[in-house]
Amino acid sequence: MAKHSKKSTNLWSTPAAQVLRATDDTRVEEIDFSLTPGFDGTKADAQELLAERGQVLSALQEKLYANGRSGDLRSILLVLQGMDTAGKGGMVRHVIGLVDPQGVDLASFGVPTKEEREHHYLWRIRNELPGGGKIGVFDRSHYEDVLVVAVHDLVPRQVWEPRFDEINAFEKELVDEGTLVVKVALFVSPEEQRTRLQERLDRPDKYWKYNPGDVTERGFLPQYRLAYQRILDRTNTDYAPWHVIPADRKWYSRLAVTELLIDALERLDLDWPAADFDVEVEKQRLANS
Ligand code: ADP
Repeated sequence: MAKHSKKSTNLWSTPAAQVLRATDDTRVEEIDFSLTPGFDGTKADAQELLAERGQVLSALQEKLYANGRSGDLRSILLVLQGMDTAGKGGMVRHVIGLVDPQGVDLASFGVPTKEEREHHYLWRIRNELPGGGKIGVFDRSHYEDVLVVAVHDLVPRQVWEPRFDEINAFEKELVDEGTLVVKVALFVSPEEQRTRLQERLDRPDKYWKYNPGDVTERGFLPQYRLAYQRILDRTNTDYAPWHVIPADRKWYSRLAVTELLIDALERLDLDWPAADFDVEVEKQRLANS
């Protein structure tokens, strides 16, 4: 009984979509990534709630998919950015894994291929945009072109600098075409990142996740923080706002992103699509068949 009442209590003191939304005052430097903003429960509470909310997410996603099948062009695009080991892969597995894979368009963006490099940086992104009724998930995104690219001077500043405005215009276009854009930046503390990298070196079943380059990138953490701050300062628009998620506790970041997706789907205010046939006539036909 106690368990039931606890489960039904709202463990969020402030909704995730509100408490995690970046503002003009958000300073990456000042965030404690081990905190669980807005959530008052324990790890066990969060895991229990995730299972429960996963069902809500799945039901909403089915409605989005059903509308898409009926010609509705609206979609959701979840943009996942984060430092190495911040948990983007786990997010796809544990959160996106809660919904029907038929309704998901997943794309990962790594170092651009030769063909991709021959095009504008948004070319490969446009090729992976979600269709109507889909939840698109970008594991890394066009933001790499103002993150890693800026941190490592892969192109001169005068080339990446105009990209912020270009990205805003691109996202405005997406939103105007019916895509609800949910941008998420996951942050881990340097200590937690070390622990996660250490685990990858200690466990043979995790070697495949280890990339020696990740240790090199640790040397650039201040530059990455600066680059993320620039993104928040320049691309946190009303139509495509950023959410900043402390990710030292995976159970929190996963629950938080689940809540952000539920919030996005609820904002679409979907109904089940109407039948494009006469229900009564069809019932009769079936009965007579
Ligand atoms: P992950 O590290 O996320 O598991 P990958 O092994 O595919 O995935 O590597 C992604 C790498 O690709 C990251 O180091 C990232 O910085 C890099 N990357 C992504 N987009 C770009 C880009 N536009 N230019 C240069 N590097 C990029």
